[in-house]
Amino acid sequence: MFNIVAIPAFQDNYIWAIHNGVHATVVDPGEASSVLAFLDAHGLQLDAILCTHRHADHIGGIAELCAVYNVPVYGRCHPGNPYVSHRLTEGSHLTLTTLDLTFDILEIPGHVEDHIAYLAPDMLFCGDTLFGAGCGRNFEGTMVQLHRSLQRLASLPDTTRVYCAHEYTAANIRFALACEPGNRKLIQRELAVQKLRAANLPTLPSTIALEKATNPFLRATQPEIIQTLQQRGLSDTGELSVFTALRRWKNNFVST
Ligand SMILES: [Zn+2]
Repeated sequence: MFNIVAIPAFQDNYIWAIHNGVHATVVDPGEASSVLAFLDAHGLQLDAILCTHRHADHIGGIAELCAVYNVPVYGRCHPGNPYVSHRLTEGSHLTLTTLDLTFDILEIPGHVEDHIAYLAPDMLFCGDTLFGAGCGRNFEGTMVQLHRSLQRLASLPDTTRVYCAHEYTAANIRFALACEPGNRKLIQRELAVQKLRAANLPTLPSTIALEKATNPFLRATQPEIIQTLQQRGLSDTGELSVFTALRRWKNNFVST
């Protein structure tokens, strides 16, 4: 058995640590200091580093961690991520023997082209592609790719826990409510998230079921969302068009 713990970093990043009380693996260590402090405090030995994508706030701590712990670094090959020692692609399997845990690797481009997700039964590490009640920006590739990647994650079992790399849920819910003010599950989620944040607790992991019920980027076929966008001038109500309009609106959304 193992625990999965959020190590807060920077303003709103989470570096996820998977550990069994002795051995630990971390996902997306954007900084080393908080990871080293966590390992120290719990008497853990770092065995591996997993990267979802190459952005600096996800890989910035790898060099320093590897100087202390000479561990394998898993990720998708990209010139912008020189730290990867073990390359993963779509369909790869990664077994962490010390944790008795095997991940399937999914390529999920659309935030950036090298983005991958780590999937184990009931557990998904999805970096900056799917967030609590939101999704990552489309920095590289197409909206078709981002939409397809999110649809793929939405098709995972409902009980899959979703470990995102940022604490963006509260702000995302403000946008989601602007899209779909009548969604009761979303209103319930807002209250739950407010309580968690007031107690300085993570709103993550969520679940695929909760995201499907509350995340507008997985709900581009919902009549209320389509109606909201039509009121904002959208004429093409095809799913991709609605999804694209949602992502563009969110880019400039300022909640009141
Ligand atoms: Zn990113």
